Amino acid sequence: MKRIVVIGAGHVGFYVAERLSKKLKSDIKRGQVELMVIDPNQHMTYQPFLPEAAAGSISPRHGVVPLRQALKHCTIVTAAVTAIDHAGRKLTIQPFTGPARELEYDEIIVAPGSVSRPLPIPGLADAAIGIKSMGEAIWLRNHVLQRFDIAATTDDPVVRRSALTFVTVGGGFAGAETLGELEDMTANVVKNYPELDADEIKWYLVEYADKIMPEVGPQMGAYAARQLTKRGVDIRLGTTLKSCEGGHVVLTDGEEFDSDTIIWTAGVMPNPVLKQSDLPIGPRGHLECNTQLQVATGVEAATNQVGDVVEGAWGAGDSTQVPDTSDFPMAYCTPSAQHAVRQARILADNVYAAHVGRALQKYEHKYIGSVAGLGLYKGVANTYGFKAKGLLAWLMHRGYHLSRVPGTGRKGRILTDWIVGFFTKREMVQLGEIQAGREPFEAIAAGTDPARAHKPTD
Ligand SMILES: Cc1cc2nc3c(=O)[nH]c(=O)nc-3n(C[C@H](O)[C@H](O)[C@H](O)COP(=O)(O)OP(=O)(O)OC[C@H]3O[C@@H](n4cnc5c(N)ncnc54)[C@H](O)[C@@H]3O)c2cc1C
Repeated sequence: MKRIVVIGAGHVGFYVAERLSKKLKSDIKRGQVELMVIDPNQHMTYQPFLPEAAAGSISPRHGVVPLRQALKHCTIVTAAVTAIDHAGRKLTIQPFTGPARELEYDEIIVAPGSVSRPLPIPGLADAAIGIKSMGEAIWLRNHVLQRFDIAATTDDPVVRRSALTFVTVGGGFAGAETLGELEDMTANVVKNYPELDADEIKWYLVEYADKIMPEVGPQMGAYAARQLTKRGVDIRLGTTLKSCEGGHVVLTDGEEFDSDTIIWTAGVMPNPVLKQSDLPIGPRGHLECNTQLQVATGVEAATNQVGDVVEGAWGAGDSTQVPDTSDFPMAYCTPSAQHAVRQARILADNVYAAHVGRALQKYEHKYIGSVAGLGLYKGVANTYGFKAKGLLAWLMHRGYHLSRVPGTGRKGRILTDWIVGFFTKREMVQLGEIQAGREPFEAIAAGTDPARAHKPTD
């Protein structure tokens, strides 16, 4: 039996596995091919919905896709890949429990995506949170909403100010969308707290560059900045975080304040698992791939050097550097769901073509721009040169992502969330207690008051 392993079931891995398993269905049924998908999560996360999940516009469960239900013809392994020995055609996985073990394979599709890129800023590791997973989105929602109860019940003005001060570092897609959604939520939620004044809530957007949201172009990025400023967001351009020890934020422009909430979205880097492999890695840690999405050594986009193919290894998405043929001189495809999903289609077709001895296709796609939500009924879009803002852009953002999220059932659930949200008040429930799920029972067992086991998120 030939074993094809997909590492990571995100935007690339999930769509590759879905498409390839359909093409290989009869080989899989006859036991000639096994298509194995390895991911530490038992679900695919549709990342563009993380800000909406954090703001409560969709249920977190509806922004993820359970792999075993969606990829029926694949073997699903819930584990992290920790090393790849391609020369020996084996990889190491770390399951939930027990020791690490080795798995043999014939072909490998490498798609572990990217991770948040933290910088050596004092206090950052202890005080900040990223937004790359549904767990982080849920944590953030619970944490932000809990700040209102903390602020409403404390006598200490310093604690109150820190609770109601929120900072997002990084003004790209992830940062601006997350801030846009959460600021909109907090502006609404505060109306339910007569003890608090809306003016006490302070949102900062800290960005090193001189503009935000480069993904939607300069004009629409400037509009997004104006929109957020009108809503009271303090945007600091050309600025970054100097330190945030114990939640005391110091910006490079000299401003200092305390904040319980620091959201770090200032860049991503290729998944560090690639360093534990014998596959070719580029100068910034990406897996080197050619335009046919084969792993290859010596690919040089700017000089159109095609490189030497590493047999039996494929890659796409955020963890790779794939020449972007729509640019001249050629650069590499930027990390985006748009590239990831389109690459996945070509990748699945090429793995199948190689399997049946047909010619491979090149990945050729011009980045067509982006749509982004900035809170309810607010958005910004620039696609195929068509620029939109406000309600129209927001509808485009929702329509686009609804069309992209996998599965009819999932689309229906998300649409239902939105329709119910439209006709009802904003959901302001936070379930921070799930982070200490066993503590009430432990308190009862120890003879203490379970109500006192209820603590805020750290
Ligand atoms: C908040 C947010 C909003 C975004 N909005 C947009 C948008 O509007 N439009 C757009 O184009 N892009 C957007 N993006 C970017 C887009 O989501 C990514 O570019 C895309 O997900 C990359 O796909 P990928 O398959 O390479 O990686 P991912 O989708 O990140 O998938 C990687 C997978 O690998 C798994 N994995 C990680 N480590 C291991 C390991 N050791 N072993 C096995 N599996 C592993 C992970 O669990 C994950 O399932 C957004 C990103 C974020 C964070």
